[in-house]
Amino acid sequence: MLSRRIGKQFCGHFKGSFGRFQSTLVVAEHNNETLTPITQNTITAAKNLGGNISVLVAGTKCGPAAEALSKTDGITKVLVAESDIFKGLTVENLTALIVATQNKNKYTHILAGASTLGKTVIPRVAAKLDVSPISDVIGIKSTDTFIRSIYAGNAIQTIQANDPIKILSIRGTSFEPATLGSGSATIEKVPVEGCDTQLSEFVSQELSKSDRPELTSAKVVVSGGRGMKSSDNFKILFDLADKLNAAVGASRAAVDAGYAPSHFLVGQTGSIIAPDLYIAVGISGAIQHLAGMKDSKTIVAINKDPEAPIFQVADYGLVEDLFKAVPEMTGKL
Ligand SMILES: Cc1cc2nc3c(=O)[nH]c(=O)nc-3n(C[C@H](O)[C@H](O)[C@H](O)COP(=O)(O)OP(=O)(O)OC[C@H]3O[C@@H](n4cnc5c(N)ncnc54)[C@H](O)[C@@H]3O)c2cc1C
Repeated sequence: MLSRRIGKQFCGHFKGSFGRFQSTLVVAEHNNETLTPITQNTITAAKNLGGNISVLVAGTKCGPAAEALSKTDGITKVLVAESDIFKGLTVENLTALIVATQNKNKYTHILAGASTLGKTVIPRVAAKLDVSPISDVIGIKSTDTFIRSIYAGNAIQTIQANDPIKILSIRGTSFEPATLGSGSATIEKVPVEGCDTQLSEFVSQELSKSDRPELTSAKVVVSGGRGMKSSDNFKILFDLADKLNAAVGASRAAVDAGYAPSHFLVGQTGSIIAPDLYIAVGISGAIQHLAGMKDSKTIVAINKDPEAPIFQVADYGLVEDLFKAVPEMTGKL
């Protein structure tokens, strides 16, 4: 078993907030039109805390995202901050907005997904409010006690937080997505004065275009490691992925060697995913890689080394040369 429970490592003096009125602010991640899936997982985590939930949507023309959130079960209020200063969601301006919203409404908890955005904004907000951020939360035991993953997922820590405001980043794969459709939250505009920090400016972004599903939301992922030996060889993974309607991922060794682009990276320093099916091809199974995919429902490993650690977490293992096995699988689908 990969995870080793090491119990309560940090256990400060208990000043729990049971009985106190809970109110949580969830920071929504979206592209103005649609919500990023981790927002729905974070809302479920917020529901586990109890009390009122407000969701903050900052963007330029984010009406559709706010509308979808207002119909999400369990949300009391959707707070909308619409302004050009949130173009590209620069983290400095978003931090200023969250802090201003917190100072006005005095939430007991502030939550964001443990995505690139959440990992960037949560520590900033915590620093501004002079409390400790609690990152990568995978379970909520009570309003002040949280379970989080540490040492690249190799140990689980239960932590009790004494800060008056708990600021958490939530690992999406550990919470079911909240369902959209049955709620009726009110939508409220929030002032944005004072949130233009002028510390950074959004210039442009180039999004990779692909007909394949996005790595973090795909139900099936085919990943390649150093065993692929070249970027050209990734073609056999793309062929398999196309048959399975899968996203393609990669290990750090494959990314560092230039076989795959960095947005393919799965693991501690890349995407943390939990698809229904994860096929690891030519990947040894280092803990930093497992940290990003071990929660997948079914794991298949193809590796020519029967001693490769990936087989310890695999549901199905194939000891075989990948250049023989993968085209054969694709041919049979
Ligand atoms: C701080 C830190 C953070 C890190 N973060 C990440 C991270 O986010 N993600 C990540 O993946 N790694 C991460 N790493 C790197 C990690 O430790 C490993 O080095 C990396 O995952 C190894 O990648 P790999 O399995 O592709 O390569 P290797 O460990 O070299 O394994 C290659 C595998 O391919 C098999 N193979 C070779 N040829 C064939 C063939 N023809 N057919 C079948 N099998 C074959 C071999 O048997 C071997 O098991 C991190 C490391 C550090 C220190």
